[in-house]
Amino acid sequence: MKDSESGKRRRVAILGSTGSIGRQALEVVERHPERLEVVALSAHSNLGLLREQALRHRPRWLGVTDSGAAERAREALADTGARVLAGAGCLRELASLQEAEVVLNAVVGSVGLEATLAALHAGKRLALANKESLVAGGPLVMRALEGGGELLPVDSEHSAVFQCMRGEDSREVESIILTASGGPFYGRSAEELRKVGVEEALAHPTWRMGRKITVDSATLMNKGLEVIEAHFLFGLPYERIEVVAHPQSVVHSMVRFRDGAVMAQLGLPDMRLPISFSLSFPERWEPDWRPTDFAKMGSLTFGELDREAFPCLDLAYEAGKAGGSAPAVLNAANEVAVAAFLEGLIGFTSIAEVVEGTLSSHRPESLGGLDELREVEEEARGRARELVGGW
Ligand code: NDP
Ligand code: MG
Repeated sequence: MKDSESGKRRRVAILGSTGSIGRQALEVVERHPERLEVVALSAHSNLGLLREQALRHRPRWLGVTDSGAAERAREALADTGARVLAGAGCLRELASLQEAEVVLNAVVGSVGLEATLAALHAGKRLALANKESLVAGGPLVMRALEGGGELLPVDSEHSAVFQCMRGEDSREVESIILTASGGPFYGRSAEELRKVGVEEALAHPTWRMGRKITVDSATLMNKGLEVIEAHFLFGLPYERIEVVAHPQSVVHSMVRFRDGAVMAQLGLPDMRLPISFSLSFPERWEPDWRPTDFAKMGSLTFGELDREAFPCLDLAYEAGKAGGSAPAVLNAANEVAVAAFLEGLIGFTSIAEVVEGTLSSHRPESLGGLDELREVEEEARGRARELVGGW
């Protein structure tokens, strides 16, 4: 029997609930109060919004990851009636709470890895938006999955691929085709990109997202991270993961089968759809927005991505193919470079230069465990900061 028919609500922990994905996940919860119940929420430092969310959804647990905000947090959240955990380690606790059935990991950055691993070790269903944790710690996540947890993608492209593969024999898959909007700078030359500023990079044409992923979309690093994410999620070699520009962001991704058939999943660019599916799976729940009207949509177009003007995409393919610690180094260097760009310390095209410089001074090694991974990342961050100019 389905949960929704038995009257039982699914108990969800939302990590990073104050972010773009987290807020949209709470909209999905509000649409389905008879099907979903929030048991835990977390923020890094946005205590005001976390309190509002807590008063509305009444979770038993709250987490605040910024250790500097711990004392303020206990005071600010006292009237929510929830138990408040503070410090970076609280994500691990929230991800393995006994009362949580589904954990939505929507924090930003590879700091999300501990929660990803904890949820899987505790046998939870993990709805994963935090792609950086899979990019940095792919082999560790795959090992943790063997323990009985379940991983459902939230990223729209991977949700699309997952939906296209349902009921199919994965041995019949020829390749995965990830679509890319191309971001705000699609069609610009390398020369033109030298002059773009932070505001322009944050003005994404089709998606409204957090700042870090919006910059990643502008450099195409986001697509690169997604290529690595797809490699781990669907077990395909990098040669069989294609990317194609699709500025309208309606075809969310495609799967090419051995006989030449191509399956696609389509919809308007709205993250509530993949978020909802990751929470409702294997059911599908009705949305509160209008169905896609194809007659009014106009044309859907596809094209090449300019891999010279946007080198981050190929840097990600190279790091992915090198394997072991290389994707973690790519990701760590990118996190530093994007933060430096947002601070106005480096120009847009320097993001790729910092990533390339950091990667070229690293010799990939296989990843033993989390401690080793964090050491590799720390070293990469140090190197990237030097390249930023001693930040
Ligand atoms: P946001 O920046 O909007 O939100 C990030 C969330 O993580 C906030 O709740 C923030 O708390 C919290 N956070 C920030 N820093 C830390 C930290 N050091 N430790 C723990 N929590 C922290 O990001 P998005 O919602 O855009 O993205 C979240 C993840 O989902 C990313 O991995 C992104 O790549 C992925 N994703 C996002 C999509 C989107 O449409 N936005 C689409 C596909 C994937 P606070 O508010 O207090 O700072
Ligand atoms: Mg995506």
